[in-house]
Amino acid sequence: MERTLERTFDLGKGCDDQVPQRVAFYIGLLEPVFEEPSPHRLVGRERDEAFDFMLERDTSPVELITRRYASIVIFKPYNTCPQICVYCQRNWEIDDVLEHRALADVEKIKRAIEWIGEHPAIKEVLITGGDPLVLSDDGLDKLLQQIAGIEHIQRIRIGSRTPVTLPMRITDDLAGLLAGFRVPGKREVALVTHVEHPYEVTPDLVEVIEKLKSRGISAYNQMVFTFENSRRFEASLLRKMVKLAGIDPYYTFNMKGKEETQRFRVPMARLLQEQKEEARLLSGLDRTDEAVYNVPRLGKNYLRASQHRDLISILPDGSRLYEFHPWEKKMMLQQIFVIPDVPILPYLERLEERGEDPRSYESIWYYY
Ligand code: SF4
Repeated sequence: MERTLERTFDLGKGCDDQVPQRVAFYIGLLEPVFEEPSPHRLVGRERDEAFDFMLERDTSPVELITRRYASIVIFKPYNTCPQICVYCQRNWEIDDVLEHRALADVEKIKRAIEWIGEHPAIKEVLITGGDPLVLSDDGLDKLLQQIAGIEHIQRIRIGSRTPVTLPMRITDDLAGLLAGFRVPGKREVALVTHVEHPYEVTPDLVEVIEKLKSRGISAYNQMVFTFENSRRFEASLLRKMVKLAGIDPYYTFNMKGKEETQRFRVPMARLLQEQKEEARLLSGLDRTDEAVYNVPRLGKNYLRASQHRDLISILPDGSRLYEFHPWEKKMMLQQIFVIPDVPILPYLERLEERGEDPRSYESIWYYY
């Protein structure tokens, strides 16, 4: 722990004189925040039904594939990660940590890749899971060769948190292997990673990203906005630090879904407030990401596009009830999606328990 923090300080020196002070401030806030996982996360329900809150099966034309947008598919050949996140929207199908049988059956992989090949509208494949970079170099090479062999694929995206959880996995060989599938002007290889907090921007992560970017692989970050990183300035510092490490901030996801994540969830108003107020502290190049609500069955809804949702009611506990509109609503019959948000007052009270001053958040009531 000590070593990691020291190294974070060292990185801070290179960023900005204020960063070490900010990091020291965060360390002070760390103490009593960890909670015991509750047993109901583990037992008593059918995992598939309880956890597939994004209704991925409804948008899966063939096993291992999810298609929510015309030109992009998610391909999930490998269902495990070095770390299983409680808020993961895919852990309804993810196996145990580093489970050795997590690679899908060869026939299923073959069928999924054939299906991509039969659909020329698909230009981009996001390989995720699970974390595909846990696969061996050989296994990954075989998989990528098959995808790169499809003429109409212009971008291969690797969804991986390995640069954070297992940075030593990104060897020179692996970086070279991934870069070998780039064809400038024809096919891009991009890493979409998941850095959650400024603490995770370590020298190891910086080194890994440099290794990939120097070989022409672009890198983007998707942050899940949780109670833990929703406190003032944490997300803005994270954007600044990942950008200095060579990663472009790409999406900030507002949380939803299973009951297991309730303690992590944050009112949508806080994300909107954060992006409005704290964005002023950052250069435009640092604040490139979009705040999104990933609507089950429908895909991403940009929270700054207020015309894409309506606030339709306020419930007795103070939760705001939103109606999300599918973008095709005016062209065909589509179901809307109605969901209550996290009530604001208990959120502010929890922040106060952590030593935050709720008055510094008071404009939150004006965001919806
Ligand atoms: S690293 Fe990503 S895919 Fe793996 S459990 Fe976490 S959120 Fe899910």
